[in-house]
Amino acid sequence: MNYQIKALRALNDNYIWVIYNQKSAIVVDPTLTESVDEFLQQNNLHLDSILLTHGHSDHIGGVAGLVNKYSPQIVDNFSDQLTDASNVQIDGFPQIQVILTPGHMYEHVCYLFDNKHLFCGDTLFSLGCGRVFTNDYQLMYDSLAKLKRLDNNVLFYPAHEYTLNNLRFTLELDNENQEYYADFINKIDSKLFEKQNSLPTVLSDELKYNLFLRDNDARLWSVVGKKSESVITNGFEYFKQLRMIRNNF
Ligand SMILES: [Zn+2]
Repeated sequence: MNYQIKALRALNDNYIWVIYNQKSAIVVDPTLTESVDEFLQQNNLHLDSILLTHGHSDHIGGVAGLVNKYSPQIVDNFSDQLTDASNVQIDGFPQIQVILTPGHMYEHVCYLFDNKHLFCGDTLFSLGCGRVFTNDYQLMYDSLAKLKRLDNNVLFYPAHEYTLNNLRFTLELDNENQEYYADFINKIDSKLFEKQNSLPTVLSDELKYNLFLRDNDARLWSVVGKKSESVITNGFEYFKQLRMIRNNF
């Protein structure tokens, strides 16, 4: 089954991801109707389905307009209809696995497409993670732990281009270890230079460089402990303090 994945940019830093074959398309978190509609028309595509990661307005803003025009199937978890690890099958496309990832919002869900591409909304960003609007840090921590267990080659497609700002945060927090990030900086520099787009990012890089996933690194526990004036003795406490530092960055 052949398919391609296209990034459409919207608002300041949103991504609308479109997965498509020769005839039809699946769109993830359509911020706006117009940019999606234009892409579908240019490529002579029917909109088969909309996948929503969660209900924030910059993720669902284009839904009503697209429903009016294309009547797509809508997959979301707003009223608990999705089950963790269940599959969604869309005609003409490989299987999509549902991964429930509450934390940013209770209904947040990620979609693993063809076991290779994870549409992760506002749960994970390159070098960062989403704000914990539920205020349940344990929930978010457990959701990120789930994503860490995926195959290291899985590509992550977050809903925002936040990489540069997250890099600044990373280098400021871990300022005694800046050399460590040189390879990653080279990689995103060239991507941002060419197409203003650092995504997708591969899980192996995030495990290596993303502070929010490195909760078993005792050196980082002490960095974050100093900064937050707390004594950190476990990965969860590290994550929670780190996320709270990031809230004020
Ligand atoms: Zn959100």
